[in-house]
Amino acid sequence: RIEIESLTKRFDSGGDRIIAVNDLNLTVRDGEFLVLVGPSGCGKSTTLRLIAGLERVTEGTIRLDRTDVTDQKPKNRNMAMVFQNYALYPHMTARENMGFGLKMTTDMSNEEINERVEEVAAMMGIENLLGSKPGEMSGGQQQRVALGRAIVRDPEVFLMDEPLSNLDAKLRSEMRTELQNLQQDFDVTTIYVTHDQTEAMTMGDRIAILNDGQLQQVGTPLECYHEPANRFVASFIGSPS
Ligand code: ATP
Ligand code: MG
Repeated sequence: RIEIESLTKRFDSGGDRIIAVNDLNLTVRDGEFLVLVGPSGCGKSTTLRLIAGLERVTEGTIRLDRTDVTDQKPKNRNMAMVFQNYALYPHMTARENMGFGLKMTTDMSNEEINERVEEVAAMMGIENLLGSKPGEMSGGQQQRVALGRAIVRDPEVFLMDEPLSNLDAKLRSEMRTELQNLQQDFDVTTIYVTHDQTEAMTMGDRIAILNDGQLQQVGTPLECYHEPANRFVASFIGSPS
């Protein structure tokens, strides 16, 4: 599980001080699908980047399975991040893209890497894409490969930042279901960032609602809908008044 305590991130840009994340406390349980939701600029991506170790924490602690990882390098955190723009290497095939992380961070042989890539591709039903390069794939196919690349590393935690926002509505809803099935099959603790309340309400075991760097409420979608903690939550979620 992930325990976040008093997490704060300040940016000093040209004399301006922005508090992007303000004293955030949150526990994500093992195997949980937690959706972090809120309006643009509320600090969702910054929170995720802090957890991934891509941004330095100003104050507070992040623990993964009781180990303090606040100052650990990203590669020592056993977390995999999936972004909206896939960030696949354009000159590499899906097979090479999916194996690249293992090649760089483990001492697995090429043969072992291939086996692992093929195993995951088979579980995801994307074996037919392994020989293709990103430019030859649709957006949905690229996103599947990007997910596959995260899964081959067998992470304890998935961090996803609006991974479906580049896809059209139909594919988006297909991929939502697919993502949830994957998350359950591989039993990975997941934090999923979106600004889309519908996505949050339908996908999250629990949702964490953020506004202006501050956590407003954490609860199941139904709890937040029926018992909003404050006016912001009520209007953001569209609770009955
Ligand atoms: P969106 O839904 O638009 O992606 P977000 O919730 O992900 O928004 P963040 O990207 O976390 O929001 O930004 C939170 C605040 O921190 C914003 O005011 C943003 O301008 C500021 N911010 C983010 N990164 C930096 C940075 N590197 N330097 C200065 N300010 C930053
Ligand atoms: Mg963002």
